[in-house]
Amino acid sequence: CINNLSDLEKLAVLGHGSGGTVYKVRHRSSASIYALKVLRFTEDAVTIRLQAAREAEILKRVDSPYIVRCHGVFNNGITGNGDGGSDLCFVMEYMEAGSLHDVLRVRRRFPEKVIYGVARRVLEGLHYLHGMQIVHGDIKPSNLLINAIGHVKIADFGVSHVVAGKPNNTCDFFMGTSAYMSPERFDPERWGGDCSDGFAGDVWSLGVVVLECLVGHFPLIGPGQKPDWPTLMCAICFGEKMEMPETAASPEFQSFVCRCLEKDWRKRGTVAELLSHPFVNKGCCDSTEGLVDYALNG
Ligand code: ADP
Ligand code: MG
Repeated sequence: CINNLSDLEKLAVLGHGSGGTVYKVRHRSSASIYALKVLRFTEDAVTIRLQAAREAEILKRVDSPYIVRCHGVFNNGITGNGDGGSDLCFVMEYMEAGSLHDVLRVRRRFPEKVIYGVARRVLEGLHYLHGMQIVHGDIKPSNLLINAIGHVKIADFGVSHVVAGKPNNTCDFFMGTSAYMSPERFDPERWGGDCSDGFAGDVWSLGVVVLECLVGHFPLIGPGQKPDWPTLMCAICFGEKMEMPETAASPEFQSFVCRCLEKDWRKRGTVAELLSHPFVNKGCCDSTEGLVDYALNG
């Protein structure tokens, strides 16, 4: 049990993100290893503070083998930087093999038998979250973490959002931008409107991730194309229906990706539908042993 941040000793930096820094830490008395995410904000950073509070609320509520576990949230008060700022710290389960982004950078692409294990676990995680009315909002390789036995879990609730209980289900949370965002998120008509498409947005992002694992680069633009915003937005919103890569993909893979990357969110596959899709029901649902070989022994 972690009672105090001073019980933790910093060992290394695991990652930097928009929100702050993630450290590998050791709990002094038990020698257990954790990941510590530190969000730092100055006194006047109202939006960031709101976002951080939201992340904390969600992390405290979720409890699933498909979501990176949070063992405690600490508010570090005034940091002494002279800016009146403070830290919000999350003690998280340590994911030894890092993020899918890191693994993809080294391995470039995976065989389908590895990809379906990833897709299956992310779908299980989304099924859990959506069942709690939580839209993740930022599914992408750097937010999918892998542990020592090759299990993928969803992390980073920095832009996540609980849909229910908001006046008119208003969408005030879609801050930030990502190449994994669905077409409807670019639609000004929907901005600030009804949030019912948020769940479908998570499915789109999963489709992009799954395809990226097969082709070895961000799949909606060519490997040589400059990934600037106009190019990305055009590809996401107006790009031709996905053409499968040179790499041979099974019919199940192709059909799964097409259901995820349906541009009209109303017609897109739901998490429930996709959980029974043949692509993610090929073998044992936990068969990600292949991934840990890829992650650690590559
Ligand atoms: P941000 O909101 O800044 O993107 P994340 O929670 O996504 O923060 O963490 C940033 C990076 O830190 C991740 O992409 C990953 O590389 C690393 N990281 C985060 N949490 C963990 C963890 N629990 N175990 C191992 N690495 C982690
Ligand atoms: Mg992140």
